[in-house]
This record gives sequence, C-alpha cells and structure tokens, in this order.
Amino acid sequence: MILDSALEFLKSPRTRLGPYNRCVPKTSPAQPLRPALFLDRDGVLNEDRGYVSRWEDFHWIAGARETVAAFNRAGWLVIVVTNQSGVGRGYYSEADVHALHARMAKDLADIGGRIDAFYHAPQHPDAPVEAYRHPDPPDRKPNPGMILRALSEWPIDREASLLVGDKPSDLEAALRAGVKSVLFTGGDLAQFLRIQALLPT
Ligand SMILES: [Mg+2]
Repeated sequence: MILDSALEFLKSPRTRLGPYNRCVPKTSPAQPLRPALFLDRDGVLNEDRGYVSRWEDFHWIAGARETVAAFNRAGWLVIVVTNQSGVGRGYYSEADVHALHARMAKDLADIGGRIDAFYHAPQHPDAPVEAYRHPDPPDRKPNPGMILRALSEWPIDREASLLVGDKPSDLEAALRAGVKSVLFTGGDLAQFLRIQALLPT
C-alpha cells in the first residue's frame, strides 16, 4: 500500500526529474543577518607589546575571552580585524599569524568562545618585502578594507554591529565602513563594555 502510493508519487508529472529539475535548489535560502562584533587584536584581545607573533608572547587582556563568549551566546558574529605590518616589515610570516590565531581559537574553545573570522592586513607603505609594499594599503586601518570584506563575506547586519578598537585608526576604519565603534581605554574588556551597556547579558 505504502509502496503503491510511493510509486504513484514518483510517476506524477510534478515530481518526475528532468534536466532542469534537479533535487538541488538553484539558490540557497537567504541567511538571516546577524550583528557582528569587530575586534581589533593587539591592545583589545591581547596586550600590545609590539609585533606579537608568538604564543609565548601572547597575553590575553582581562575579560577578553569572556567578551567573545558573551557575544557568541547572544548570536553575534565575532570577527577580528588586525593590522599586521610586522609581516610586511619582515619580522614574521603570514604563517606565523595564522598559527597564532589558531592557538587563540583553541584557547577560546576551552571556555566556549569562538572567533568566526580573522582578517589581517600584512601590507605597509615601507615594507622591504615587495609583495607587501603598497603606498596606501586598502586593508590597513584606518582604511576600511578588512571590515568591508567581512561585510561582503558574512551575513552581517551592519547597522547593528560594533567595532572595539584601542586606537583612533580603528575607529576611523569603522566609521568609513558605516559601523559603530567604541574606543577601549584599557582594563577589563568585559567590564568596560558592561559599564557602557554594550555587553550582551
Ligand atoms: Mg590595537
């Protein structure tokens, strides 16, 4: 009985498969937009000791990991946008940057935190490495390239998003990308955002 009705269903014209009727949708359903927390790295997530490239030199800022996890729980995307001219200057490689970010991700996972994407800008106008030399690198903050790229690559609600940086150049990049921003002035990051009613509860 069940088999008969199944056969009937398959034979009906509506379900017969033709060359233009594959079982794969032509377009994926639109993903709902989510707010994104854009984070500068050095001076916001970790202490800025100048050209940090090794895990041994990486020290989380108090409350940074908890901040990431809190925004994760609230359904935000968390995206790092970091100038890394140390690459262009020849101090370390992009592989070193990726390795450090992978180590950060592992450490975050231990407390249930997740950074959805890392964008880094390795270029610098004076880079001795020619591949990284650019008179005005579009990705290097205060230029908004990394943020604009993230906005095009992720389902982000731009107007609901926020950038946290520790330098005016971070805030200028956010402004030019149309994203609200706040200047982190030090201390405990989670506490800082909580006081300003910016930390999701
Ligand atoms: Mg910084």
